[in-house]
Amino acid sequence: MMKRTKVKALLSAPQLGSDVIVKGWVRTKRGNKNILFIALNDGSTINNIQVVVDAASFDENLLKDITTGACISVTGKLVESQGQGQSTEINAASIELYGKSDAETYPLQKKGHSMEFLRENAHLRFRTNTFGAVFRIRHSMAFAIHNYFNDKGFVYLHTPIVTGSDCEGAGEMFHVTTMDLKNIPHDEAGSVDYKSDFFGKETNLTVSGQLEGELGALALGDIYTFGPTFRAENSNTPRHLAEFWMIEPEMSFYDLTDNMDLAEDFLKYLIRYALENCKEDLDFLNNMIDKALLERLKFVVENEFIRVTYTEAVSILTASGKKWDYPVGWGRDLQSEHERYLVEEHFKRPVILTDYPKEIKAFYMKQNADGKTVRAMDVLFPGIGEIIGGSQREDQYDLLLARIKEMKLPEKELWWYLDTRKYGTAPHSGFGLGFERLILFVTGMSNIRDVIPFPRTPKNAEF
Ligand code: ATP
Ligand code: MN
Repeated sequence: MMKRTKVKALLSAPQLGSDVIVKGWVRTKRGNKNILFIALNDGSTINNIQVVVDAASFDENLLKDITTGACISVTGKLVESQGQGQSTEINAASIELYGKSDAETYPLQKKGHSMEFLRENAHLRFRTNTFGAVFRIRHSMAFAIHNYFNDKGFVYLHTPIVTGSDCEGAGEMFHVTTMDLKNIPHDEAGSVDYKSDFFGKETNLTVSGQLEGELGALALGDIYTFGPTFRAENSNTPRHLAEFWMIEPEMSFYDLTDNMDLAEDFLKYLIRYALENCKEDLDFLNNMIDKALLERLKFVVENEFIRVTYTEAVSILTASGKKWDYPVGWGRDLQSEHERYLVEEHFKRPVILTDYPKEIKAFYMKQNADGKTVRAMDVLFPGIGEIIGGSQREDQYDLLLARIKEMKLPEKELWWYLDTRKYGTAPHSGFGLGFERLILFVTGMSNIRDVIPFPRTPKNAEF
């Protein structure tokens, strides 16, 4: 029995004259009464294989049913193409129709569709060239991430998705409960009585695996997480999702400079990996989505990131004479417009901003000697703004506890986190890379909803 060959394999090393079986979905069918040309795609590559059909040798009704979107299996001979646009094609000897696709109602017609339309048809959008390219690249990046850390001896640590701590500090959380929402039990004081809930306490979906990641790093040395995170932030922007994937490496014995070096090397590795391994998909996106994509990717790989402090950045923004929608001033958080000015107009390079005011950063960041700033780092990218957020962590028990008290965080609930500073504490650092922000940058897509298969955003959880 002959086995099916994937189109990618067929096209990369064509064995002209051999008999092959290909299976896939019809992109287009054209031709006349005598001869038909079917462009077949099986998802293994952006390229289609052309199937040439001598109409006289086939059942007329079968050929009628081979319309855009239909799924077929073709047996035939691989030959040099007579036409232009492809080097190899298949002369069909037999065709089996797996699934018809009603031409009247099939949503994906040949003409280009808007991204909004394709989002509403997210169950079928994988079948377009653009989304095929995006999701093959997304896969390659996930693979490259594991490769990178595995080569460096990092341990992939699975941190929990349901968390009992509500002080991860990174954003609004989704509650997890099995309580009957129509009949919520209350205690004597009138507060929700979580004792009767599934876990016997209040639980949420994680906004970050960092705190648990630190526990791993302070024994295993270097760890990373790569998993889903959830933020109930009601910000409808092209860069925020309610459910997104994050990569969070955490390293013992790394200071902030080591942390920045790793972040820069990691991002460059991933982009270089895409340039070397996703060439056809990137070429397509460069042609169809963003003509400056390849140039921008190469630029980031070839140039050093600029490293400046938050304080310097504020001076640059103030001196720019620009009118901002949000005010600039020492102590205020930077908005996307400020970040993008620094990256796209002032430095014209990726930028790593460090040493932010402690008031606008999380409790666990290491305090500087000035008493005002912390060892934070944000990596800012062109077109994206913040792609990575990280820091050196506060490793001294007394300082960490003082900060927890100062910020009125529930000290009791953080007993396990504080324990690591009590028993064999160590300098350590880490960061979080938003996976979808990386994919946005690498693909040149402009909306984060189009780089995750099924986006979850405010008022939207279809599919
Ligand atoms: P932003 O200011 O852009 O909302 P953040 O400061 O909340 O980001 P962190 O808490 O530092 O972000 O999270 C680490 C990384 O996770 C960010 O640098 C970003 O790449 C990504 N990220 C954060 N929030 C989201 C979100 N809602 N959707 C997608 N990615 C996100
Ligand atoms: Mn945020």
